[in-house]
Amino acid sequence: MKVVRFHAPGDVRVGDAPEPSPGPGDVKIRVRNCSTCGTDVKIFRFGHHHIVPPRVMGHEVAGQVVEVGPGVDGWAAGDRVQVIAAIPDGTCAECRRGRLTVCPNQESIGYHYDGGFAEYMVVPAKVLAVDGLNRIPDGVSYAEASVAEPFACAINGQNLARVGPGDDVVVVGSGPIGCLHVRLARARGATRVFLVELNRERLDRAAGLVSPDAAICAGETDPVDAVLKATDGRGADVIITAAASGQAQEQAIQMAARQARISLFGGLPKDNPIISVDSNLVHYRELTVVGANGSSPAHNAEALGLIASGAVPVDDLITHRLPLAETLDAFDIVARGQAIKVTIEP
Ligand SMILES: [Zn+2]
Repeated sequence: MKVVRFHAPGDVRVGDAPEPSPGPGDVKIRVRNCSTCGTDVKIFRFGHHHIVPPRVMGHEVAGQVVEVGPGVDGWAAGDRVQVIAAIPDGTCAECRRGRLTVCPNQESIGYHYDGGFAEYMVVPAKVLAVDGLNRIPDGVSYAEASVAEPFACAINGQNLARVGPGDDVVVVGSGPIGCLHVRLARARGATRVFLVELNRERLDRAAGLVSPDAAICAGETDPVDAVLKATDGRGADVIITAAASGQAQEQAIQMAARQARISLFGGLPKDNPIISVDSNLVHYRELTVVGANGSSPAHNAEALGLIASGAVPVDDLITHRLPLAETLDAFDIVARGQAIKVTIEP
């Protein structure tokens, strides 16, 4: 079969590999869609300490079951499935408290296990053990289902930031995650949703799709002033930074209303993670600053449900569909910010 494997930083190749066989508890799928994200580009450029090469990349996976390993119940050839990316162990102190997204023993598809940029993939028994293989609802395409994984991360972030009715929400960053955050915030009853983005071209493209109440170009205007002006000086109730920018995180705190929640959703570069905060703003305004680390199996199932019900459409966010052989071109499109979502159809 054809696969896309990481060999070393800067060295990702399309090649041939033997078809994998499912072991006890595993399920083998024919991958139909594996979508790309910024993380794939990061791995391509810099590698990752959890990846021992050669490794098949890809972690936003949807496909069809072709074979089940010994001892697998409830799944059969032909089932349409979506796969979680982050696999908690389900047994540690955090998992037992229901905090699966911060399991310290978490492993990942495309890192510890071969991923979805391949014609076939084995879903490891560990995924099934934590209920991480989801049936794709009728009416949801494989391409849409592959977006459930990043969408699940957005759901986790908005749960932690308690996005709800009446909130004025600011989303910083207009990539696929930013677009998902805008739509999810609306679905959760936010009163107004503002989209902030540095790059005018990307802002206009995203705003054309998700229609925020205001699109603020941080490259042309001070986003803190713009948000304060749009909210009669109150600030926003929730600010979500879906951008790897320390400046965006600092601005997020400056544009926060009293008792606002700030989600530092996007991580910062490892070599530059320090920001400057006026802690008196946090103190007197009773702000809550939260992180977000991936998603749990339940968040993935919830994402599929929101896609199926039409509450959060994702089909129009998939702007590019490419065959497996063009995965490196897909990375390039992602890296240059020319797309919202690029999906690979192996
Ligand atoms: Zn755990």
